[in-house]
Amino acid sequence: MKFNTRTIHGGQHPEETTGAVMPPIFQTSTFAQEAPGKHQGHEYARVTNPTRTAFEDLLASLENADQCASFASGCAAMDAVIKMLRPGDHVVSSNDLYGGTYRLFTEVFQPLGINFTFVNMASVDETAAAITDNTKMLWIETPTNPLLNIVDIPAMVDLSKKHKLISAVDNTFASPYLQQPLELGIDMVVHSATKYLGGHSDLIHGAVCSSNEEIMEKIRFQVKTTGAVPGPMDCYLALRGAKTLAVRMERSCDNAKAIAHHLREHPKVGKVLYPGFEDHPGHNIAKQQMSGFGAMVSFSLKDDSVQKAHDMMSATKVFTLAESLGGVESLISHPSSMTHASIPREERIKAGLSDSLIRLSVGIEDESDLIADLDKALDSI
Ligand SMILES: *Cc1c(COP(=O)(O)O)cnc(C)c1O
Repeated sequence: MKFNTRTIHGGQHPEETTGAVMPPIFQTSTFAQEAPGKHQGHEYARVTNPTRTAFEDLLASLENADQCASFASGCAAMDAVIKMLRPGDHVVSSNDLYGGTYRLFTEVFQPLGINFTFVNMASVDETAAAITDNTKMLWIETPTNPLLNIVDIPAMVDLSKKHKLISAVDNTFASPYLQQPLELGIDMVVHSATKYLGGHSDLIHGAVCSSNEEIMEKIRFQVKTTGAVPGPMDCYLALRGAKTLAVRMERSCDNAKAIAHHLREHPKVGKVLYPGFEDHPGHNIAKQQMSGFGAMVSFSLKDDSVQKAHDMMSATKVFTLAESLGGVESLISHPSSMTHASIPREERIKAGLSDSLIRLSVGIEDESDLIADLDKALDSI
């Protein structure tokens, strides 16, 4: 089945007892057993729940993975992944990461003895140079957040194979609609399903997908043992949202393209970061490993001031000033004072994240309304 069909039918079947087309929200903590150990596939809802399984089967289908495990949030999913490691182990990651990922790595796991090196992963040489005898994992985000750099996934797969590392891609920004890292040889994919998969800014949800049985056994052990699991209602919402992933992404990507090109010509706009531009340094790699350029656009103002950026963001009416991304509604945010405030300023500046950088998550509204809204806000400053 093609991707668009799998978003609706992947891993899904009508419920057995009633024929319900959508899986019921199985709001239960436990499941009756006929005799000790004799049950219908579910024992206790921390371990598995049928509504959760329905979402997991769908996402596994979209990522071309044998298995998927879902979590209460993207952060809980990442937490489970890093807990596969042990003190003394080392991870090489990007210096342009989601702020919450950076905080989890440096403030939870680093004090427990797991070490991290943050490099410009768009450079394969810089990434290779950071690998030591203790390195166990490459943690990749691409496109990166919020600078929209592109990391060469096949090159990272080669490095992982050469040094026997586990490769993990946070695929939140691209979604499986645009990028399927497991198909390119990556070991595991992590999602904040809060974003494009859910798509409606109405839940917090995370997931890990892999076809490596040894890895998924460890992840399922984390699910069972630490219990950072999503409730059945959220699993239902994530499933319902994911069914429209393809049509939402198509429209959002079209809108983002139009906005990026429009902003580039605007006299008050400085640099526009968008991998769809032919002169974007990662454009050719993006063209090879993604089926589109995504719906995130970042830009700075010519007058590079925090105050002007704040004024501009406060003036939009269609774009909502808010953290997060990937919903049907367009959002505007200021990474350095919002999502990325937990990254020290000097680290941010070093990575190229200027104080005035503005990030757009482009939704599915009418293109002309979105452009008019940005123009009006830019005119006001
Ligand atoms: C939001 C986000 C996360 C964290 O996910 P939550 O669901 O908010 O816990 C991780 N990575 C990326 C790229 C994100 O955008």
